[in-house]
Amino acid sequence: MRLSRLFGMASRRIAIIPGDGIGPEITDAVLRILEAAGFEAEYTFLEAGQPSLDKGGPAMPDATVQAIREIGVALKGPTATPIGKGHVSANVTLRKKLDLFANVRPTRTLPGVTTPFSERDLDLVIVRENTEDLYAGIEFMPTPDLAQSIKVITRGACMRICAYAFDMARKQGRKRVTAVHKANIMKMSDGMFLEEFYKVAAQYTDIKGDDIIVDNCCMQLVMRPEQFDVLVTENLYGDIVSDLCAGLVGGLGLAPGANIGITNAVFEAVHGSAPDIAGKGLANPTALLSSGLMMLRHIGEHAMADRIQAAVLSVLQEGKRTTRDLGGSASTTEYRDAVIAALG
Ligand code: ATP
Repeated sequence: MRLSRLFGMASRRIAIIPGDGIGPEITDAVLRILEAAGFEAEYTFLEAGQPSLDKGGPAMPDATVQAIREIGVALKGPTATPIGKGHVSANVTLRKKLDLFANVRPTRTLPGVTTPFSERDLDLVIVRENTEDLYAGIEFMPTPDLAQSIKVITRGACMRICAYAFDMARKQGRKRVTAVHKANIMKMSDGMFLEEFYKVAAQYTDIKGDDIIVDNCCMQLVMRPEQFDVLVTENLYGDIVSDLCAGLVGGLGLAPGANIGITNAVFEAVHGSAPDIAGKGLANPTALLSSGLMMLRHIGEHAMADRIQAAVLSVLQEGKRTTRDLGGSASTTEYRDAVIAALG
């Protein structure tokens, strides 16, 4: 037992939000893997999504937001957002209230995961602006037959996300940052994004800054994805392009993400709550686990993250105990146990 535990000294705190759908089962798998690897932290479990809605509360309770604000670091399972009606997205609320302006989503080819792109050795990162755009949720209907959504883009947010992307690229030794936009049509909003992008790019002469229109980007991503390094983009394009990128390397079950703000960071998978497979033991916990590894690196636990990453890669490479989304037949818990066994 650690001395800090023995003497009741304050240890590292992490907020855990299991969420709904497959959230609780994949969160449990991830926490057990972290524990098996010897990671110690004081977890504070917080409610969001369906468990809160069931009690008549909001999808993202203020108490949860406040606790994350105090703790600073959170690992979050998915929370469902109803289509076309119902409550406001828990994720959008959290990202706005904590000003988690950068959504970072790495896409990497994984050994043993066969896709049409397995031979391409992909390694790119999507940096998605997380607080505005059409996600501002400003919608109204002046008449019953006219619905309008406002796309909100501010100069400050454009500058901040582009600076984050270049800074991250430099820290990771990356060579190119590409702005993804539709400034040929949205000349003011996306035009301003592009303007700020090139202002920031001018300060990073060691990194190539260029841009691409979002539709062309999607085509290029399925024709020659290996050409990209860092993609920086607005909220909605980032949402769509990151699911596309998840598909390039094996699907949503593998795609991790981080929501980064000035003082808070919330780590969560790219995928949603997958209600179609919830409670069936079919969910792949790798995406949330890899988000957890991003969290470990964020708090400086690089060796621990490397060790768990190696265990995951060896199970994927062996290919015998993977979940159904990867063509295997292992349950969530069988896969979890395989990763734990691979930790050695
Ligand atoms: P959201 O809009 O909340 O992001 P979504 O519409 O993108 O949600 P998901 O819940 O992410 O939808 O699910 C999309 C598909 O991917 C579903 O068929 C789901 O079962 C599958 N899926 C998502 N996550 C996983 C996972 N961790 N393991 C296996 N399959 C998954």
